[in-house]
Amino acid sequence: MSLSPTPYPQPVIDLRSDTVTRPTLAMRQAMFDAEVGDDVFADDPTVLALQKRIAGDLGFEAALFMPSGTQSNLCALMAHCGRGDEYLVGQMAHTYRWEGGGAAVLGSIQPQPLAQGDDGRIEWADIQAAIKPDDAHFARTRLLCLENTWGGQVLDAAYVADVTGRAHARGLATHLDGARLFNAAVASGRPAHELVRGFDSVSVCFSKGLGAPMGSALCGSRSFIERAHRWRKMAGGGLRQAGVVAAAALYALDHHVQRLATDHDHAARLAQGLGGLPGVSVQPPQTNIVFIDLSPEVLARHPQSVSAALAARGVLCLGSARLRLVTHLDIQAHQVDQAVQALRAVLG
Ligand SMILES: *Cc1c(COP(=O)(O)O)cnc(C)c1O
Repeated sequence: MSLSPTPYPQPVIDLRSDTVTRPTLAMRQAMFDAEVGDDVFADDPTVLALQKRIAGDLGFEAALFMPSGTQSNLCALMAHCGRGDEYLVGQMAHTYRWEGGGAAVLGSIQPQPLAQGDDGRIEWADIQAAIKPDDAHFARTRLLCLENTWGGQVLDAAYVADVTGRAHARGLATHLDGARLFNAAVASGRPAHELVRGFDSVSVCFSKGLGAPMGSALCGSRSFIERAHRWRKMAGGGLRQAGVVAAAALYALDHHVQRLATDHDHAARLAQGLGGLPGVSVQPPQTNIVFIDLSPEVLARHPQSVSAALAARGVLCLGSARLRLVTHLDIQAHQVDQAVQALRAVLG
């Protein structure tokens, strides 16, 4: 039996996502050493320490450790909105498009998706126009949901301050899907707690660029977290000796935040390396995600798919006409250069 995680030749340069990282030896040691209890009884000291740490770091009263970002966002939406309420969200946002419709299916919450700019913004005029009057014909508009980073871009801080302020003035709550919040913080050189100002709740992932095997945290006020805690239990997210994985998240907060700058440098190096190829368009990345747009001519040269041709050369990525390549903890500089060579060979 092969222990290889993919059917592709090794060694593979896996740029599909920053979720593919394996816990480092030091992280595994921290997990091994973790003091644990039963978190359903709220007596796992490592989980409690993580929740205190992340709430403090982001400037919230309380936090809750979650198995995944999807469950964290779902519990947030359900803690903000009740049956027949609605949330305003980007048409391409994770909390609308990529979470299986959970808010509607499990929460009886109506999404109101809105158009987003290339930078992830939803214009205030569109938000305002979507807020429903208090009338039995309409769902009750309760919440505005934003995402940072958005497609690897840092959401503009002045925009965030403006729309969250206006949303509050209209009586809406605000939630940030900050799965890659720390990438935004490192890329903008601002502390994460500044980037979440204006939000009533935020969800962050430990399993993306931070390199933990699983886990997210939801932060908010004490009463909000108490409501989210009930939903987490119902969603099956009450874990027992969760300190084993919380230890990985704590380790990541101590050791894997500042190093995200390396992933960002690698992404920039990857994008630069592809300059000058006809029919290939690459925007300089702000964080760790590189998008490569391919012309119909380039695509026509690959009757199978470009990603299959790259996989045959040991480089894994997602997408077709628009390829997505994500740098992370398990990608070294020389692998970035190998990936550039493979991409130039396939696309050139
Ligand atoms: C990955 C991701 C999530 C969900 O995280 P999972 O742990 O995969 O459920 C939510 N939002 C964004 C923007 C993400 O990238």
